[in-house]
Amino acid sequence: MKDIQRILEEKKSSIKELEKFLYDNPEIEMDEYKAKAKFTELLKMENFFIEEDIPNLPTAFVAHKSSGNGPAIGIMAEYDALPGIGHACGHNLIGAIGYGTAVVLGEMLSEFEGSIYLLGSPAEETGRGKTGLIGAGYFKNIDIAMMVHPMKFTCLKTNMTNLEGYDVTFIGKASHAGEAPENGINALDAAVQFYSGIGLLRQQLKDDARVHAIITKGGSAPNIIPEIATVRLEMRHEEITYFRSMVQRILNIAKAAATATGCSVNIEMFEPQICCMKNNNVMADLFKSHLVESGVDKKEIIDSYKIGGCSDMGNVSQIVPSIHPWIQMVRSSSEAHTIEFLEDAHSPFAIREMFRAIRCLAGVGLDILKDPSILSEIKKDFVDGNKQ
Ligand SMILES: [Zn+2]
Repeated sequence: MKDIQRILEEKKSSIKELEKFLYDNPEIEMDEYKAKAKFTELLKMENFFIEEDIPNLPTAFVAHKSSGNGPAIGIMAEYDALPGIGHACGHNLIGAIGYGTAVVLGEMLSEFEGSIYLLGSPAEETGRGKTGLIGAGYFKNIDIAMMVHPMKFTCLKTNMTNLEGYDVTFIGKASHAGEAPENGINALDAAVQFYSGIGLLRQQLKDDARVHAIITKGGSAPNIIPEIATVRLEMRHEEITYFRSMVQRILNIAKAAATATGCSVNIEMFEPQICCMKNNNVMADLFKSHLVESGVDKKEIIDSYKIGGCSDMGNVSQIVPSIHPWIQMVRSSSEAHTIEFLEDAHSPFAIREMFRAIRCLAGVGLDILKDPSILSEIKKDFVDGNKQ
């Protein structure tokens, strides 16, 4: 019977090659052309069938390999870097982990029935990759989805937030500020009232709610009453019901500011809506058993952890059972999106832990390929999660 460790040993050099290539060639969101070319070159050599024309996502791809009618396992690959700072979120590691896991599980298809999908999802930092793949229907035939993110500690269930971002544009009437101010309707006044209203509401928001706003347009010259003013804001909270009510309250402040100043207001989302992470407990338990089997001390594994950040993996987790665990791959002082994290993201320690991540994800996949009845437990947990 085929063994994960043995296959990993055979594929080690191509996994390392991909990781180094991604690290050495950082590309920001929607510009990951070199990364896509490298992934597809390596995946073709592993006999994956590759779809490269993904609607509206030129740097995305979907690779798959199938045998018979077994479980369809989705593995996520991220590979976008951060502007100006390279792979300071470690997506070089995520990409190589996704590739390695898909290749190992692909080899298992000579013994078990099923399909392995590697979803090449660009632009995680702006949430456009996975939301685009979802919109284009690429998760319809997939039973589960999983990935591992590098982190400064190891944790099974990441509680990430819902997020929505809006451009709130107030439209008033321009007028000469010296000669005829009385003829003007000041859109900047509306923007300032809106901004201040958000600040006043803060005292009544839950501690872990986040609202961050900037004024992106506020007039063109001080001697013209501003006709247009725009506030760009993002809101976050992890509980969906509370989140919806908070968004409503804040957008009501915008409408009130428009009424108070005589402006009209136009409210538009400027980025994809990001959902909170719905962690699958059955998959997380399987992942934990493989972490322990690989030598991680149980005491080092945190069950769940709440952060203020979010990921488009949350959107995936709302439609198919998913996990997005963290494995410690950087120093415990390294914060994501910093130079320190960038330095750590290609260290010998990170590379060693990258192979552990592959081993554990492939372990979960193999459990499911061997015994597809686990899928019904996974799906039951997913449905139960909907009722909460
Ligand atoms: Zn990241």
